[in-house]
Amino acid sequence: MATSIDTDQTAVLALLELPAPETLSEPQMCGRACVWCGDALSNDTAVDLGVRTAEVHGITADWFPRTDKRCVGGKAYAQLFVHAVSCEPCRETAAGCDTAVALRRLMREGRR
Ligand SMILES: [Zn+2]
Ligand SMILES: [Zn+2]
Repeated sequence: MATSIDTDQTAVLALLELPAPETLSEPQMCGRACVWCGDALSNDTAVDLGVRTAEVHGITADWFPRTDKRCVGGKAYAQLFVHAVSCEPCRETAAGCDTAVALRRLMREGRR
């Protein structure tokens, strides 16, 4: 069902670690460029990473980082390893838990 897939994807995107906001350029902070590689994004290729709260120069603000499919695929792959180490279902079953399934789905999207 489409709705539950979207929910999983949002939850799993929230797991991905972002660079420190103060190290990013203005287009990256505004979601016009990828938070990881800095490439300009179009609405066709951009992947929303959900709202994050960041403290920059003592001011706490919401920001809306975005990335592209290539970067999100790579980050999902890295996160899958980090996750699997501390997740019991993932250590004991080949299929893994819902989080692992959602991460693998993101990786596949990145290869398209
Ligand atoms: Zn990128
Ligand atoms: Zn797991």
